[in-house]
Amino acid sequence: MIVSKFGGSSVADASQIQKVKKIIESNSQRRIIVVSAPGKRNNNDEKITDLLYRCNDEVKNGFGAKSFKIIRERYTEICKNLGLDEMSEILDEVESGIESRKGPDYAASRGEYLSARMLSSFFKAEFIDTAEVIRLTDDGRVEESSYKALNDRIKGTGKYILPGFYGSNSKGEIKTFSRGGSDITGAIAARAIEADVYENWTDVSGLLMSDPRLIDNPGVVTELTYKEIRELASIGANVFHEEAITPVKDYNIPINIRNTNRPEDDGTMIVTNRDTSQFPIVGISGKTGYRNIFIEKLMMNRYPGFREKLLVLLNQNNIFPEFESTGFDSISFLAPLNQFERGRVVIETIKEKLQPELIELRPSLSLIGVVGSGLPEQIGVAADVFTALKNENINVRFINYGGSDITLIIGVDTDFYLDALKAIHNIFGEN
Ligand code: ASP
Repeated sequence: MIVSKFGGSSVADASQIQKVKKIIESNSQRRIIVVSAPGKRNNNDEKITDLLYRCNDEVKNGFGAKSFKIIRERYTEICKNLGLDEMSEILDEVESGIESRKGPDYAASRGEYLSARMLSSFFKAEFIDTAEVIRLTDDGRVEESSYKALNDRIKGTGKYILPGFYGSNSKGEIKTFSRGGSDITGAIAARAIEADVYENWTDVSGLLMSDPRLIDNPGVVTELTYKEIRELASIGANVFHEEAITPVKDYNIPINIRNTNRPEDDGTMIVTNRDTSQFPIVGISGKTGYRNIFIEKLMMNRYPGFREKLLVLLNQNNIFPEFESTGFDSISFLAPLNQFERGRVVIETIKEKLQPELIELRPSLSLIGVVGSGLPEQIGVAADVFTALKNENINVRFINYGGSDITLIIGVDTDFYLDALKAIHNIFGEN
């Protein structure tokens, strides 16, 4: 069996939903369908989920859920264009639920709920409310019992449709995942039935090698591992919700990212292992806006707990380093620029408490992450990266490799960020 999850753009309007129907009908194994709430139809449009959060705020501020009118119109129009009965009663019920102050999670979850209710008759699929089967712990993890509960509900031979994005807590209240969390629901469903494939249908033909806003026409990555996609998420590439990996990974269920608008494309496969000989690298991604705090103290190793004390002082001033590099007599931490509001204060405090020889806040840095299992498996991949930078006269200011052996992080001055990305993309870009 295949679990097919359709994101907000795939269910944004009736014509998109017609495409989804075709996709489902073209393979009888596609029996478990997970849907998001309708997303944006164009750049000026609003996502249903955003409108629902707004309704909740309106109620909280005593205005009544004024924006619910837009939501109602949107679903009514979709129903009409699909030839379905209007769902005024269900819409009334949801509106009064929001009006009765059930809170943001309840309100936000209704986008998916309404999608699934609406589409169950259109796809001739049985509706399963995920609030009844997916139980979340108080700290937001999925209870093991959810998988069995869901599996027990999928015993027939027909199709099933599930709303994404939410479950319920031990008190039976609705709890949503973080934004984009319908991916997680799809992964839970895939694990519950031990699906052959978890298809994640979106509006791109898979994961791209580089950010298309920065690089012209980057190629699609045909295959990458769970570990590689996690690493890509950590440096800012996000097509797939990072928490959605866990449920499927242990069961080796491949994830296939596909394009609803181009179902003929194979998309990207996320798997356990891959052969890296042809494509050592799967992604080049980056983030601008880091700052380097550099500290030197002679015989640093003679001062037990020096590093820990530094970290405490930084944390106390809202600086949470994401990368660090330690030398014999020096240490350097990299943290997002916007955490340095109290930069001067923290420097003075560190000077006073730890008496370093030197402490400096260095100019803004941009980080580039090069991710691929080919890095540890092949000789010369990192050398190629540095040669590409050398050929463009780009100075390397920071390197981090080994914390994860499949990610090489390189810091460059922000002025050279784009050139550096391009230079590295040019050597590995075609996958
Ligand atoms: N509708 C939710 C959101 O906009 C969840 C999802 O689409 O995955 O974040």
